[in-house]
Amino acid sequence: MTISRRAMMAGTVGLGAAFAFRPLSAQAQTEAGEGYMRTRIGDFEVIALSDGSVQRPLDAGFVRNAPLEDVQAALASAGLPTDHVTNSFSPVVVIADGRHILFDAGFADNGPDGTGLLAENMEAAGIAPGDIDAVVMSHLHPDHVNGLRRSDGTLVYPDAEIWIPQPELDHWMSDERMNAAPEGARGAFRVVRRVLDGYPEGRLNAFAPGTRVAGAIDTAPAFGHTPGHTVLSVGEGAESFTFIGDAAHIPALFVANPDWQLMFDMDPDAARESRHALLARLAEQGGLVAGYHFPAGTIGRIETAGDSYAYSTNG
Ligand SMILES: [Zn+2]
Repeated sequence: MTISRRAMMAGTVGLGAAFAFRPLSAQAQTEAGEGYMRTRIGDFEVIALSDGSVQRPLDAGFVRNAPLEDVQAALASAGLPTDHVTNSFSPVVVIADGRHILFDAGFADNGPDGTGLLAENMEAAGIAPGDIDAVVMSHLHPDHVNGLRRSDGTLVYPDAEIWIPQPELDHWMSDERMNAAPEGARGAFRVVRRVLDGYPEGRLNAFAPGTRVAGAIDTAPAFGHTPGHTVLSVGEGAESFTFIGDAAHIPALFVANPDWQLMFDMDPDAARESRHALLARLAEQGGLVAGYHFPAGTIGRIETAGDSYAYSTNG
């Protein structure tokens, strides 16, 4: 892209002169600190954050449809330990048209030890929680939605508009579905109610996956992990950033093996189809990518690797 087109684009979206002539290489503009990574693509700034991580022992159930030794081999070939997996929780802030938009919310103080670090990592990256203008949710699993409300009931982003995929609300707020779920699966419904019941009028917005929300954020259905799971993006083509939520969990396992089914995928076959289609699209597009369970505070790209894919953070 030439400078003249960039200048024109900057003009059409009304950005200030400070944005108009920045170089395009994301790598050249990357700044990383403890718990965050900040980069720029097109007219947008992307800050990958961390709410922390937990380790879980690797057992045969983590990947439903692959032998444990294959899962261990995939971890080993990525240079990772084979006796456990590190589950990172990695929300992202996008700055677009001067607005700070958070993708997924972490746990706040409702999670296990090793989590709840989002606020301090945000501040390390120069963002105060009060700067957040909007929060857009990929889905409503507890590790994503708990961070909207602290355990004492107070809202973490009281002034922000909250955007939630309509089919997620339909599922998690349905008494019928909660009552039909086995007792062990009702906790996730209760978390959604804890967070959303009584949320101030006018702050909560439901959206149809596929529509644009919060000004600049494009959304696309990637159902399967949950009934309304949605990926979020800004920009276009190679100058885009896409947040894939949980469409692929730990990349060494599920980007490298898109057919593998994570134990938390609610509709494993739909999740696999969504994952394949999404990874193919992202590899072709060449824009920047982050995932909620990708290594904390990283932004990378999806590349083809043989007949599969890889998540690369090398530029
Ligand atoms: Zn998750």
